Amino acid sequence: LNPYWMPFSHNRYYKQDAVHRVHRMLARAEGSYYWTTENHKLYDALSGLWCCGLGHRHPRLVEAVKQQLDVLDYGTAFQMGTPGVFKLAERIAEAAPAGFEHVFFCNSGSEAVDTALKMALAYHRARGEAHRTRFIGREKGYHGVGFGGISVGGMVANRKMFAAGMLPGVDHLPHTHNLKEMAFSRGEPQWGSHLADELERLVALHDASTIAAVIVEPMQGSAGVIVPPQGYLKRLRELCTKHGILLIFDEVITGFGRMGQPFAAQYFDVTPDLITFAKGVNNGLVPMGGVIATKSIYDTFMTGPDHMVEFFHGYTYSGHALAVAAAHAALDVIAEEQIYPRVNALSKTLEEAVHGLKGEANVIDIRNCQLAAAVELAPMEGKPGLRAIRVFEEALKRGVLFRFTGDIIAMGPTFVSTPEEIGHMAEVLRESIRAAG
Ligand code: PMP
Repeated sequence: LNPYWMPFSHNRYYKQDAVHRVHRMLARAEGSYYWTTENHKLYDALSGLWCCGLGHRHPRLVEAVKQQLDVLDYGTAFQMGTPGVFKLAERIAEAAPAGFEHVFFCNSGSEAVDTALKMALAYHRARGEAHRTRFIGREKGYHGVGFGGISVGGMVANRKMFAAGMLPGVDHLPHTHNLKEMAFSRGEPQWGSHLADELERLVALHDASTIAAVIVEPMQGSAGVIVPPQGYLKRLRELCTKHGILLIFDEVITGFGRMGQPFAAQYFDVTPDLITFAKGVNNGLVPMGGVIATKSIYDTFMTGPDHMVEFFHGYTYSGHALAVAAAHAALDVIAEEQIYPRVNALSKTLEEAVHGLKGEANVIDIRNCQLAAAVELAPMEGKPGLRAIRVFEEALKRGVLFRFTGDIIAMGPTFVSTPEEIGHMAEVLRESIRAAG
């Protein structure tokens, strides 16, 4: 009996194929590589789970956490604080677009999403609009595994078992490639703006004054690097503003490096009202997430003599001293190692490398957005995910650790990868697709 409960639903694939019974455990990591317990070296093609962009065990981060441990372990943010957490909030707000001035810390992306949804409700309530309670997500959106996140998330499989606990009044903006074809056939290059107009349909259906917020990933990561169509985010912003609806960008994957900018908000030049972050903020070293709010939103829901009671929310480990120490070091490294320009340069390498797989048998789509890419494969024997896991296995033999959802292989190289490593990763993917049959 294996006493360890494999914590990810993806492991259902392990039942499908005898090959996967092989034990494979990670023992060590450094830079862009892992080593298994059998000392097999693996290039980490997804930076952990999108979170270790600066490379594993970056010496600066390790040292910062060690030093912190010598001084203060746990310092609650409850009715107290630590200088480090206030300074970190300042640095994060500075990295965000103008107008963002307040940071709420929590411990994961899922918690950040729940917090942002609560902030939206609190904001409207404080403005005397307590009837604004509906949320709108997007098909294929991923916002973690909390009840808030699976409610607004657009991956139906993730929530069907928990239907009884879903937030009421949630709709999902459509995600469809057919619309793209329709728009192109009408000669509309800004088809994204057309797609965003679906929000008007929901507004007409429910009345804008019942809608609290729209939440989207600026670039949908977990669904397999789905890039927003041209004009999509801008149009969403316009429509949210027009109808008094808050716009939340879930930047858990896109924040702190992967877009070659601090946030996708800057990369796409669209400013939301709330930004969630996690992962890259401290390179995945100690769990940390958070929400960044504009001054005007914060002032609205945090004013009044009893504001503490009105917005009752917080976590034991919010702003944990070790996570904060790692985050300061990560922000220092991002600046000193010029991570944003480096990501911009590497993104071109990644783009060329993955599009070099065009024309390979069983490759049906290739997508990329800055330092994120995905290769979508044709299903095998009618079994979703089977081809991807075969490719995954072949690549492991060849020393590359890819991650997959369904038949999509995702790639999010570390920011410290070399162009050669990215090229090699793509060639291993090519060989693995061929070997998978
Ligand atoms: N939002 C987005 C956009 C994510 O990509 C993720 C994690 N992949 C989450 C939320 C959830 O984060 P966590 O797993 O830290 O709860």
